[in-house]
Amino acid sequence: MTQEPHKNPDLELQNGSKAEHPALSKDDEVKLAMGWLHTARFLTTAAQLHHLPAYDLPEVAFVGRSNAGKSTCINTMTQQKRLAYASKPPGRTQHINLFALGRQAQTDAVLADLPGYGYAAVPKQDKIRWQQVMANYLMTRPNLKGIVLLCDPRLGLTELDEILLDIMRPRVMDGLQFLVLLTKSDKLNRTDAQKALSITRLQAGGGEVQLFSALKRQGLDEVALKLWHWTHPKGLATESTTLEP
Ligand code: GDP
Repeated sequence: MTQEPHKNPDLELQNGSKAEHPALSKDDEVKLAMGWLHTARFLTTAAQLHHLPAYDLPEVAFVGRSNAGKSTCINTMTQQKRLAYASKPPGRTQHINLFALGRQAQTDAVLADLPGYGYAAVPKQDKIRWQQVMANYLMTRPNLKGIVLLCDPRLGLTELDEILLDIMRPRVMDGLQFLVLLTKSDKLNRTDAQKALSITRLQAGGGEVQLFSALKRQGLDEVALKLWHWTHPKGLATESTTLEP
């Protein structure tokens, strides 16, 4: 493990966290977080939990029903067109894909893209197997620091989302960060958006809920800041490591 600070010019500009530099403006913090997310690159993929490498780095998982807008959200947040593949064939969706974040050779966090669930055409056996992988991941992944649950507000939280909420509840009570993103918010008028926020907040048991639109670029700054702070509680001087060959 190295403890060197980042040398990314964007990051060097800031040279520290808000805690170390109280004068850092919100705009500067957003710039820092967006620059960091832009470093995302494919790390590995695994069909089963025990094939997933163990990392001593903070990990944030993106979960949601298929078609919730998860791939679009990941690609938008990382400013990359095809990092997460939208419209994947169902057979290929049963993998957990990991992306490294942080300057090359100084990875400081991991993004986990968990397969979308609830896709009707998937055989029942596969669905059950997948739910088990997902439940195990959420319950046991030791370095998991936060979960982003994506939800199409026109459908609301569905039964499968509720099952996931139940599974993660003990870990959330234990300090795991948790955010529900109501995606495609450009499709809602103001009243419906407020209604969706209120209902989902109740369902999420007081967890954080916010609107997100990749199309209108709504909510991006807030998500970037959250991911950054979840994975850098002590600022830039957190541990980073070399994962890539
Ligand atoms: P995934 O299955 O959860 O990865 O969902 P995708 O990212 O593939 O998105 C599903 C569909 O929703 C696609 O047709 C996207 O173009 C659309 N979509 C995703 N995000 C937005 C958004 O912010 N606004 C609108 N209007 N459509 C979106």
